[in-house]
Amino acid sequence: MAATGKRSLLAQGLIMTEELANHYRRIIQGLGEDPDREGLRDTPRRAAKAMQFLNRGYTQRLEEIINGAVFASETDEMVLVKDIELYSMCEHHLLPFIGKCHIAYLPNGKVLGLSKFARIVDMYARRMQIQENLTRQIAEAVQQVTEARGVAVVIEARHLCMMMRGVEKQNSSMTSSVMLGAFRENQPTRQEFLTLVNGR
Ligand SMILES: [Zn+2]
Repeated sequence: MAATGKRSLLAQGLIMTEELANHYRRIIQGLGEDPDREGLRDTPRRAAKAMQFLNRGYTQRLEEIINGAVFASETDEMVLVKDIELYSMCEHHLLPFIGKCHIAYLPNGKVLGLSKFARIVDMYARRMQIQENLTRQIAEAVQQVTEARGVAVVIEARHLCMMMRGVEKQNSSMTSSVMLGAFRENQPTRQEFLTLVNGR
């Protein structure tokens, strides 16, 4: 039964790719190009698959990606994971924003496997997003999984919608932060985090 379920999910995925590809074909036409010329012939399918990949976070669930990698620990010192690469898609223009995410937490009897921070970032980044919401979703997920005394997340990102169009400001970046628990309530804790993040 499970196999049948999987097969039909796969079939659904393929139908979805074909549908998306048809839409891309129209977009290419709508932009004045000929989707049948040689260089563009496979583009609608490739673009559809790329967009599905860039939005695969919608199909993931937090429990699945964590997969039990939460471990008992006595440590109560700040844990900081810096410079996690981040690729997301601006929901206003469907153009990428690219940057780095820094996550800190204050363990409360449990620690999370290191690779899982990157998985959490990816799960929320691979969707249509605005940076502010993405920052909060990552912080809340880490809080939920670790039940930490506090969680802090900073994202620094450059938005292609700003760099390639509109104001065309190539060198501007945006920083967003969310502080939960002790990072919000305790100024020295917050300061320690910001010093560690900024001290390169
Ligand atoms: Zn945008």
